[in-house]
Amino acid sequence: MSDTAETQVVIVGAGPTGLTLAIRLAAAGIPFMLADKLTMPQATSRAAAIHARTLEVVEPLGVTDHLLAAGLRLPTASLRNRDRVLMRLDFSTLRTRYRFVLALQQDQTEAILARRLTTLGSTIERGWEAVHLQQDPDMATLTLRDPAGGLKSVRARYVVAADGYHSMVRQAVGIGFDPGTYPESFILADVHMDWPFVPDEMVMFLARDGIALAVPLPGGHVRIVATADNAPVSPGLQDVQAMLNRRGPQAVPVPVHDVIWSSRFRIHHGLAARYRAGRVFLAGDAAHAHSPAGGQGMNTGIQDAVALGERLVAVINGRQPEAGLDSYEATRRPVAERVVGATDQMTRMVTLTGSGSQLIRSAALSLIGHVPVARRRIATMIAGLNR
Ligand SMILES: Cc1cc2nc3c(=O)[nH]c(=O)nc-3n(C[C@H](O)[C@H](O)[C@H](O)COP(=O)(O)OP(=O)(O)OC[C@H]3O[C@@H](n4cnc5c(N)ncnc54)[C@H](O)[C@@H]3O)c2cc1C
Repeated sequence: MSDTAETQVVIVGAGPTGLTLAIRLAAAGIPFMLADKLTMPQATSRAAAIHARTLEVVEPLGVTDHLLAAGLRLPTASLRNRDRVLMRLDFSTLRTRYRFVLALQQDQTEAILARRLTTLGSTIERGWEAVHLQQDPDMATLTLRDPAGGLKSVRARYVVAADGYHSMVRQAVGIGFDPGTYPESFILADVHMDWPFVPDEMVMFLARDGIALAVPLPGGHVRIVATADNAPVSPGLQDVQAMLNRRGPQAVPVPVHDVIWSSRFRIHHGLAARYRAGRVFLAGDAAHAHSPAGGQGMNTGIQDAVALGERLVAVINGRQPEAGLDSYEATRRPVAERVVGATDQMTRMVTLTGSGSQLIRSAALSLIGHVPVARRRIATMIAGLNR
C-alpha cells in the first residue's frame, strides 16, 4: 500500500450529489478528494427533470446558466384519462425565476457539473472504489481499490457518502436504512415519437392497466415511464407502442419511431436513520431513496450537497464551530422524509388497481383539478419550493 494522503474532505461517488458538493468545496478553495469506482461516467439518461428549487440553489455554483442552455423548459404538466384532461399543473405562475420544469437527461446534467469542476481546477479520481473505512475522534481513514486490485488510503477530516442507494460508506458506519420495494415493475424508454399534445408539456395517463408518463426531452427525444408487469429487460419499440396504444390518447395516434435507450426497473424507497456518524455524512441516494414520481431523487441529492457544502466550508474555514455541522441532518432529513412520504402517496395513487378505486381516483383528481389553490400547492411541492 502506498503512503497515506491527507485532505480535508473525501467525497465517495461522483454522481450528481458528489459532483455538486465537490464544486462547492472547489469554489471555496477547500482541499478534497472526489473518488468514483467507475472508470467512465454513466452514459444513461435516468433522472430527466430539474426543478426550480434546484436551479435556485446551484446558481452560486455557476452551473444554472449551462443547465438552462442545455435543457428544455416545460411550463405545464397534465394528468389525463385517455383524451380527457383531469388536471393541468401550471409552473409558470410560481414565485421563482424558474417557472418551469427543466427537462434534461441525467448524463448531460452530470457532464455539465463535471465540466464546471474542471473549470475550477479539480479532477475526479475515477476507477477507485471505497472498500474500507475507519474513524477516530480526529480523522477518518478510507481505503480505495483500483480495478487491478491496487490499494491506496486517504485520511480526511470528513468523509461524505455520495455513493448511492447501496452506499458502502453508510454500511461501514452502521447507519440503518429501512429499505422497501414497490411491487410494480416499471419500464423506462427514451424514444422518438410524434407528439400530438401541447408542445413542451409533460403528460401522464392514468389508465385501467397502469400509468404512462411522457416527458419531452432536448434533442426531440421523449421519456416514457410506465408500470409494466411482464416487461422485457430492455423494452423495444413494439412494447412501448402497444402500451401507449392501450393507455394513451384514442382521438389521435401516437406513433413511436424508435427507442434510443430503455430499461426495466423496480423502485426502492427508504430513509437513513441518521445523516451523520462521527466524521461521516450521508447525502443523496445514500441517505434517501424514493419513487421517481414527481422526479425528486436527483433534485433532493443536489440540494443536500449544497446544504452540506455550505456547512463544511463554514466549519473548515473557521467561521462556524464544529457543532454547526449538526444542522445538516436537522435541516435535510425532514425534507427527505416529506419527499419519501409524498412520492409514496403519489405512487400508490397512480398505481391503484381495481376499477372502483380508479373511478374514485379520476373523479377526485378532476375535482381537485378545478381548485386553483390545490393545483398551485401541488406544483409548488413538485418544484421543491415548499422546502
Ligand atoms: C433507471 C433509473 C431511472 C431514474 N429516473 C429518475 C427520474 O426520473 N427522476 C429522478 O429524480 N431520479 C431518477 N432516478 C434516480 C436518480 O438517478 C438518482 O436519484 C440520482 O442519480 C442520485 O444521485 P447520487 O449522486 O446521490 O447517487 P448516484 O447517481 O447513484 O451516484 C453514486 C456514485 O457513487 C459511485 N459509487 C458507488 N459505490 C462506490 C464506492 N464504494 N466507491 C466509489 N464510488 C462508488 C457510483 O459509481 C456512482 O457514480 C433514476 C434512476 C435510475 C437507475
